[in-house]
Amino acid sequence: MIVATYLLSFALQHAVAWTLLGLGLRQAARHGAEVPPALAGRVDPASAARSREYTLARGRLGLASSAWDAAVTLALLFSGALPALDARLGALGLAGAHRFVAFLVALVAITSLSGLPFSLYATFGLEARFGFNRTTPALWLRDRAKGLLLAAALGLPLLYAAHAFRIRAGDSWWLWLFLFLAAVQLALAWAWPALIAPIFNRYAPLPAGELRDRLTALAERTGFRTRGLYVMDASRRSGHANAFFTGLVRPRIVLFDTLVDRTPPGEAVAILAHEIGHYRKRHVQRGLAAGLAAQAAGLWVLARLGGWPPLFQAFGFPGPSFHALLALAALCGSSFTFFLAPLGAWISRRHEYQADRYAVRVTGDGPALASALARLGEENLSNLAPHPWVVAWSHTHPTLPQRLAAIEAAGRAAPAA
Ligand SMILES: [Zn+2]
Repeated sequence: MIVATYLLSFALQHAVAWTLLGLGLRQAARHGAEVPPALAGRVDPASAARSREYTLARGRLGLASSAWDAAVTLALLFSGALPALDARLGALGLAGAHRFVAFLVALVAITSLSGLPFSLYATFGLEARFGFNRTTPALWLRDRAKGLLLAAALGLPLLYAAHAFRIRAGDSWWLWLFLFLAAVQLALAWAWPALIAPIFNRYAPLPAGELRDRLTALAERTGFRTRGLYVMDASRRSGHANAFFTGLVRPRIVLFDTLVDRTPPGEAVAILAHEIGHYRKRHVQRGLAAGLAAQAAGLWVLARLGGWPPLFQAFGFPGPSFHALLALAALCGSSFTFFLAPLGAWISRRHEYQADRYAVRVTGDGPALASALARLGEENLSNLAPHPWVVAWSHTHPTLPQRLAAIEAAGRAAPAA
């Protein structure tokens, strides 16, 4: 009964996911090379043709890697590999917290290794073919090594702490573990820009000039307190352009060097105004709160399931254990949470519209935002013809024509001062 319920949800998840991927591929194959009427004059036909090829290549890779992940998940759950691994660790004399940590580290190693060929192909095959990849095998290896050390330095103590809460805090372990994890995440958000991000990238203050003057003026005008403007050397790894904030209170504003090099100052101001909109409209804060609420709910569910022996027996374990519980959650959870994706995507798209409207209002320059978005879409080879169902299910951003239409409407409602 337990296995049947899971398999039903798993089958439904993949039926929906693969149908959407297939619809997206067909839509791109048929219409991807046409410049939509709303983008005429903004996106040139040669870019549209290239973005169609890029969309198709990414869609096919997505389908292949999703099928592979599904096969790995089923193999891990139903081959008896996990109970055998657990028994093996027990036979080696590992018990308590050490067995818990060893089991989960082995599971993470197996799933990461199984995804490695796809990650390698995505970077050095697909992204390279379209001219985006700039990372070298040496830099890639260095990044992986640093990532692994960081994961060990942060992850191992967290796993031992989780086990201690489970053992010592009685029935309310999930609540204590949640409070502990929330505190760790807030501390990391605070420490990330200064301590961890520099391990991977160099951050230099944005040089003096028109761009810095205009961005600083915008931050002052909107009452947005920052810890400064920085340029990140994103071009060492990828040609994609972007901008983001790091930190919770008084964040740093980080611009990719790829953005600084290619974007006229007026458009960079519009992009920053959009990002400030996400803070001013409390999207960032609400996103953080929603994430924490989801973690609390997830841990509460785990605490309920953790004392239910039939669940463990259904997947071949002799009885309940904390490591088997977390392994089952990691492997099975997405078949249930997958169905919440449309809600999250819908909220995110609403937030994007709100941030766009905010940007138009504070800059009084809708056309600059419109051309910035069209330029980013063109340079990043964004899909110009996504299928509406795919957008509804999973897109965190409205399509480019939808955003341009909304920006134009906002410009009419609040004409430039
Ligand atoms: Zn946004």
